[in-house]
Amino acid sequence: MKDHNGRLLRGSIAGDQFRLFAAETTNIVQTARDLHDLYPLPSLLMGRMISGVALMSGELKAPRSQISIRVDAEGPLKGAIVIASKEGDIKAFAFEPQFWAEQPESNFRVGEHLGKGSLSVIRQSGLKAPYTGRIELIDGEIASDLAAFYDKSEQTATAVNLGVLIDADARVRAAGGILIQQLPNADPEIAEHISINLAQTPNISDLMDMGLSLEDILNKFVLKGLQWKINKETPLRYHCDCSRERFARGLLLLGKAELETMLEGIDPVCHYCNNSYPFSGEDIRNLIKSLEEHDKTL
Ligand SMILES: [Zn+2]
Repeated sequence: MKDHNGRLLRGSIAGDQFRLFAAETTNIVQTARDLHDLYPLPSLLMGRMISGVALMSGELKAPRSQISIRVDAEGPLKGAIVIASKEGDIKAFAFEPQFWAEQPESNFRVGEHLGKGSLSVIRQSGLKAPYTGRIELIDGEIASDLAAFYDKSEQTATAVNLGVLIDADARVRAAGGILIQQLPNADPEIAEHISINLAQTPNISDLMDMGLSLEDILNKFVLKGLQWKINKETPLRYHCDCSRERFARGLLLLGKAELETMLEGIDPVCHYCNNSYPFSGEDIRNLIKSLEEHDKTL
């Protein structure tokens, strides 16, 4: 085993008629589960979103650029945010980490507990303003919502297959995904072949749990009978890039009046990794002082 938590494969099908992304995210989803003490339903939601954002990060080109998926829904499961960087760092948090449905059998139907809502994809590259695309949720099961996002907001025919398998005690047995994009020059017969294969592919997390690698799943099921190749493999990990400096910058943005309400000191916690960054009353006074000095120089 190499020293990483997951991996992303990028490849092409039938020459370059289709783009292929495949991700293994089991340990990343497990880390998110453990960090946030996620119950089964939020684990499934987050696992699918983590696999989705991992696949979509394959399109990032500029160093340190990021892609986020955010689900905001009216139902009690509410949604989650996941972020991936070009370097393969993924972080996530769920809005209702301990949500538990009354009927145990419905604890696997993510969409039912999200209800109406939206899925946003935010791309951020360097100092450029972030670019956001948003669609209404189709069924809230995430794979179909992401496929609809590509279809509606990017006019790209895209197949998305996501799988997360968890135990009754919410241990993550397997998680991953496959994303295939049809390019304008693609042969419609090959597209049909891929879609038939996909329809006949068992749940990919079940296959992973049986010990099949991503390459096995592509070979034996999804791309059976087709020519394809992997061009690049990138490691993925759960990693938060927060820091005391970043929190201090955030506090400065609140302005003097707001900071003056915090003179007893505060202890903000990062939503993504649970690290805390205590600021004493003295620290807050210093922040106010630096704001005042900044005002004087303007
Ligand atoms: Zn953090």
